[in-house]
Amino acid sequence: MGDILDVAIVGGGPAGMTAAIYIARTGKSVKIFERIGAGGQAALTDNIENYPGFDEGINGFDLSDKMRKQVERLGGSFEFDSVESFTQDPTSKIYTFKTGVGNEYQAKVLLITTGTTPKKLGVKGEDKFFGRGIGTCAICDGAFYKGKVVAVIGGGNSALEESLYLANLASKVYIVHRRDEFRAEHYVQQQIQEKKNIEFLLDTVVEEFVGDQKINKCIFKNVKDNTIFEKDIDGVFLYVGLDPNTTIIDSKYKDEQGFIKIDADNKINEHGLFAAGDCCVDSRKQVIIACGEGAKTSYTIGDYLNSL
Ligand code: NAP
Repeated sequence: MGDILDVAIVGGGPAGMTAAIYIARTGKSVKIFERIGAGGQAALTDNIENYPGFDEGINGFDLSDKMRKQVERLGGSFEFDSVESFTQDPTSKIYTFKTGVGNEYQAKVLLITTGTTPKKLGVKGEDKFFGRGIGTCAICDGAFYKGKVVAVIGGGNSALEESLYLANLASKVYIVHRRDEFRAEHYVQQQIQEKKNIEFLLDTVVEEFVGDQKINKCIFKNVKDNTIFEKDIDGVFLYVGLDPNTTIIDSKYKDEQGFIKIDADNKINEHGLFAAGDCCVDSRKQVIIACGEGAKTSYTIGDYLNSL
């Protein structure tokens, strides 16, 4: 176990990295614990068009990598490992936790910026073919479907934006949505209309994913007239919403869906436990907002550290 960190940040997405940038600049020691790679969901986005300053948009991985370098240049550090649980000494108020590989750390403050994970549908065949034709990351797996037929499930920004990306690779993209109106922003819906190889299956839900070693067919149901129909499909991308990554946090601090409840200053409690970004109740799930929340929280954390 090394020195006691001023701040340990669990989760290396935009909220965590922005907080680290601000905290490092105050001269406090700060380390980010991230189990996969810098950027979280944002790093898996092909083109982020609404982050100010990049007039042509920016690839999510590139933006995340720039943030990571900025954290490191300013004196923050990363450990690419998970944190599953933590304890706090009631007297010293110091947090202690172990990472997945068994390294032990202590910190005066814990900031939870663990983000979200894409939801699954819970239909027949989904678990069997997950990772074998069914996935949640077009930018990771899209290249496997060059010239093939894919289905994208969902009608939000993720589904439509990733369909645009997939339409440049696949021969055909079905967008399968349970209603006849999309919740994705108007701007994205307009771009979708221009793609000749995108076809909508509206008022439609998945009944079953079918295949052998890999998925090769989807069985759908039209929810208006209850007709069942099928399509030959080589790959499926699920964009049906996001679950918070908050198992580390006690249920008394979470809402029914598992999002973390925080006050206006991003405090979970009065004892040095903070949260910011997409894992929090009512977060807007925008990179710019996660960054703003991370920056805001750094000030509250500074006040807490000064009060010790
Ligand atoms: P989302 O906005 O929650 O949309 C999920 C979609 O999946 C909805 O269309 C929903 O249908 C559908 N759905 C949910 N459960 C379903 C089920 N069991 N069966 C079939 N369909 C189901 O999720 P998201 O697109 O991942 O976006 C999450 C958040 O990130 C949003 O706040 C979004 O604005 C934000 N985001 C922003 C950007 C951007 O700014 N560029 C990009 C990506 C994501 P209904 O519409 O009928 O509920």
